[in-house]
Amino acid sequence: MAKEKKIDDTEDLTEKKNLTIEDLPGVGEATADKLRENGYDDIMQIAVASPKDLADISGIAEGAAVKIIAAARKYADVGNFETGEEILQRRKEVLKLSTGAQGLDNLIGGGLETQSITEFFGEFGSGKTQIMLQLAVNATIPKEQGGLDSDVLIIDTENTFRPERVIQMARARNLDPDETLKRIHVARAYNAHHQILLAEKAAEIAKEFPIKLLIVDSLTSHFRSEYVGRGSLAERQQLLNKHMHDLLKFGTIYNAVIAVTNQVSANPAVFFGDPMTPIGGNIVGHTATFRIYLRKAKAGKRIARLIDSPYLPEGEAVITLTEDGIIDGT
Ligand code: ADP
Ligand code: MG
Repeated sequence: MAKEKKIDDTEDLTEKKNLTIEDLPGVGEATADKLRENGYDDIMQIAVASPKDLADISGIAEGAAVKIIAAARKYADVGNFETGEEILQRRKEVLKLSTGAQGLDNLIGGGLETQSITEFFGEFGSGKTQIMLQLAVNATIPKEQGGLDSDVLIIDTENTFRPERVIQMARARNLDPDETLKRIHVARAYNAHHQILLAEKAAEIAKEFPIKLLIVDSLTSHFRSEYVGRGSLAERQQLLNKHMHDLLKFGTIYNAVIAVTNQVSANPAVFFGDPMTPIGGNIVGHTATFRIYLRKAKAGKRIARLIDSPYLPEGEAVITLTEDGIIDGT
């Protein structure tokens, strides 16, 4: 009898680990439905939500939202503070995705990191989209070969995703092109708000497919064209800030690489050196952990410069854009 009881207890514990959002005190069926519709469909996502967002979405008072989040944090075990040891533990789970070019991989410490945002910025034709397509192909290959053995999510804002290029790059790596294409999920974003919504919904797709790479190409083009003029700058930056944090949250929760592209604008204040500065100002700059500036050079060559890394020295690598994809430049 005693033995049986023990088994029951174990089952209870296992069950507790599979809590749904309805198990949170204060979340009834109607609230749960609203939360789910907005992409908050597990405890972890509620644990890291802001009270205001949660209140806006579900129509409950902000005070009640605070309580729900506190309960979710307890279950999901997310404290506000982590010890250095805990962070080190999480860092140990970081995976690296190869760009396909050894020199560029070395520049960024072995590849693009999960749990971080890596931004590639440069002028038109500097190779940003080519690199994104290459990363998408590489992500599908096994971890031992520099991939993530994962599916890929691409938010395409400029309609530049080309399956034909994916097929070329997949063939060059001896991959089955059809299988590779099946693992790449592309969503076209028609405007800035749509783009934000797609990033919020990324978690839903991650429940169905093992997504370890989320690409936004381009991060800023819609924001740049829709929010013009001084009067709309504050709103633009606020939306971009929210979007960047949604992306980072996805990267952290799903241990995924976040790769984004950004354009440059000529900065008239710079008279010496390279006058090109990335769009999005401090908001993008502070949230992206790695920033890589791409410059055109001769004959398909591009110079990639690492800027602002938290622990790597600044430096440059040369890559070449070829029909087969991204290779070392020399
Ligand atoms: P961005 O996204 O930065 O505007 P792209 O990634 O679209 O730029 O880069 C375009 C460049 O990529 C072209 O100018 C060319 O050098 C290279 N490229 C594109 N397709 C191919 C291909 N099939 N073979 C070789 N190089 C290519
Ligand atoms: Mg492009």
